[in-house]
Amino acid sequence: MPASVETTLRGPEAYSLSRQVIDEMERAGVWPTPLNFELWLHYLGDPEGALGREIRRILAAAEPFTEATADMLAAEYLPRGRLTEEIRDAGRVLDRELASVSSAIAQAHRSQAAYGQTLDKAADRIGAVEDGEALQTIVTGLTAATRRVQRENETLEKKLDVSTREVARLREHLEQVRRDAMTDALTNLANRKAFDEHLATACEEARTSGRPMILAVLDIDYFKRFNDTWGHQTGDQVLRYVASVMGRAARTPRVAARYGGEEFAMIFPNETPEQVETALEAIRKEIASRSLRRRSTNDELGAVTISAGFAVRRPDESGAALLERADAALYASKRAGRNRVTSAESLDRAA
Ligand code: C2E
Repeated sequence: MPASVETTLRGPEAYSLSRQVIDEMERAGVWPTPLNFELWLHYLGDPEGALGREIRRILAAAEPFTEATADMLAAEYLPRGRLTEEIRDAGRVLDRELASVSSAIAQAHRSQAAYGQTLDKAADRIGAVEDGEALQTIVTGLTAATRRVQRENETLEKKLDVSTREVARLREHLEQVRRDAMTDALTNLANRKAFDEHLATACEEARTSGRPMILAVLDIDYFKRFNDTWGHQTGDQVLRYVASVMGRAARTPRVAARYGGEEFAMIFPNETPEQVETALEAIRKEIASRSLRRRSTNDELGAVTISAGFAVRRPDESGAALLERADAALYASKRAGRNRVTSAESLDRAA
């Protein structure tokens, strides 16, 4: 949660902000679920922040605010707070395990030192031994000391074993949290945050290696109309269907992401424009070839189509500039009648 909202929620404005949140949600026709409340709290607490701008855009475009929308916004804009919480928890477990292992190690050190002293003393006394009984006493003492050290070592080993397992469990859990924070909950593709990171990395790799990199943006045609006609749940299924086709085509090192509502993006490192065009055409054709059915009524929904645009990264071009050109190519596809793939380079040539 941004510090400003956190602070407000513990200050004199806390209740008026919360009331305002409820009023605004009612006005926007959004259910006051805990997640929506949290999102709206951030929105009104920081209207100019990224989340605030996105919610305003959704409201202005009269896009439906479904559970999937809320999940997506939360995954995209709230994960840092959640992640911090998880990381704090993980930190606490790690602290506990480290403290336990440290104290076991300190205890083992003390025992080893005492054992060393016992051995030294025994060595001295053996030198001065005169009868068998005295020797017997020394050996009995040594045996007891050795057993003590063995027990200490066993305890240390057990503690280390427990801690190792706990730390491994923690690592797995954090890895899952990290994956969740980077994944779009509805479609399981990379979310926008992950896409931004992948794009920056791909641009950097292309810059240092001198290898080509291509960015594509894809958008479902007439999605709003589809949503209005068949309802948001069916709209969500369509998003999942389009995402599944893209996901299958996006084997590493390609990346497929849900970039916005019905907008997707793909990164193609080290491929030629011809290869990328072939891949995008295959995706476009596969999507258009399937007639979907509405799950609840079995109504025939017909096929959905997508439009796509792609651009080849220019030397030293930033991710943002590349995205802008790919977007322009996408809109050229839309203008030319949709259900097609256009490259930014073909637009340049035409101009
Ligand atoms: P899902 O419903 O979770 O289905 C996951 C996968 O299970 C599908 O991947 C498909 O391989 C298989 N599957 C599920 N239901 C059927 C079925 O009735 N017949 C056949 N032959 N296979 C089935 P796929 O095809 O990539 O779809 C991914 C997602 O796209 C689905 O997730 C669903 O959310 C959506 N979707 C795909 N086709 C339709 C459709 O005709 N109607 C609706 N409402 N959604 C669809």
